[in-house]
Amino acid sequence: MGRRKKMVERVVSLMKNPEHIRNIGIVAHIDHGKTTLTDNLLAGAGMISSELSGSQLFMDSDEEEQDRGITIDSANVSMVHEYNGEEFLINLIDTPGHVDFGGDVTRAMRAVDGAVVVIDAVEGTMPQTETVLRQALKEQVKPVLFINKVDRLINELQVDSQEMQIRLGKLIDHVNKLIKGMNEESYNKGWKVSASDGTVAFGSALYNWAISVPMMDKTNIGFADVYNYCQQERQTDLAQKCPLYEAVNDMVIRHLPNPITAQPYRVSTIWHGDIESDVGEQMTKAKENGDLAFMVTDIRLDPHAGEVATGRLFSGTFKRGMEVNISGSPSKNRVQQVGIYMGSERVEVERIPAGNIAAVTGLKDAIVGSTVTTKDDMTPFESIKHVSEPVVTVA
Ligand code: GDP
Repeated sequence: MGRRKKMVERVVSLMKNPEHIRNIGIVAHIDHGKTTLTDNLLAGAGMISSELSGSQLFMDSDEEEQDRGITIDSANVSMVHEYNGEEFLINLIDTPGHVDFGGDVTRAMRAVDGAVVVIDAVEGTMPQTETVLRQALKEQVKPVLFINKVDRLINELQVDSQEMQIRLGKLIDHVNKLIKGMNEESYNKGWKVSASDGTVAFGSALYNWAISVPMMDKTNIGFADVYNYCQQERQTDLAQKCPLYEAVNDMVIRHLPNPITAQPYRVSTIWHGDIESDVGEQMTKAKENGDLAFMVTDIRLDPHAGEVATGRLFSGTFKRGMEVNISGSPSKNRVQQVGIYMGSERVEVERIPAGNIAAVTGLKDAIVGSTVTTKDDMTPFESIKHVSEPVVTVA
């Protein structure tokens, strides 16, 4: 069996086990390294060859984005990661990093329960970092932090090991101040980021290594060692000892919530129907045998299959041939294909149960923000609102 087919089979079998699913987005200010990080996570999961990662810009599937070198379209990918001897499914939604495309970030946040916030260690937080963080918190999406380009601190700014740690500590403090200022309730319930808790990882997406406190315990490599590896131009060795994908995916699995944990509070934020009704209860419990409740967060055109609606399935199971209602449309639509994304490629599967991100064709009346359900009278999800920031132009 081909590698790809095997991967699809593993993904399909994990989709049925919501405790082993993490739906996440990677968010960042432009150029802070989101694409490089994503490529390396995919290479780590065996989805692309590691030689190509970094140069391939795997997630940038749109011609326009390749021309402009920025990510416009949110692409999705599912990958498998082993943590403590068990396999987990990470459904990753790529998000644009440019301020013009803030609306796409907002949509992507609706589909996920956790976010990896990427920040350039040298530049620190930038306006778009704040916008995406605010959007995540507003959608009840839990953040963890990846401080990228740590190699630049050492090799370009030539800070010493102690100064490096002071700078990283200050950056973490600043992110926590932002979280507290944006959503004190979330901050108080424990959504702060902390190196010692393992909700912060540090590394270099370009050179493919990362560390976190749990990773330091596992590998016995501390900050002083990292400093030496970078200074001695031995980052390839460091990447072998502390692979980026392991530090980041371990953090995602350990600290970002699964759909069973997240759906109770997320559903009450994005859906204002009666939480004690049948569908309310099915969504809070991510019931695969409940009514279908799906929110469309993205629509794109597939040259062969036509319009593909991607979104988050909060309850029920998607299957080919189902008749569904679309909010705002008087007639029913029939589901044609049900699929998942493996990179820019959509793979058709038999069924997708609650708690996953699904890519569906046949929903001809759906638009971004539509509620898709098998019920006749379901209250639709709240519309997707983007909190835009005033853009400050410096003359
Ligand atoms: P995005 O706009 O957030 O997707 O950023 P990219 O992944 O496209 O990276 C922007 C630039 O930063 C590219 O030139 C990358 O090669 C570079 N870059 C990304 N990660 C690192 C890193 O860890 N260290 C260094 N030195 N450069 C990096």
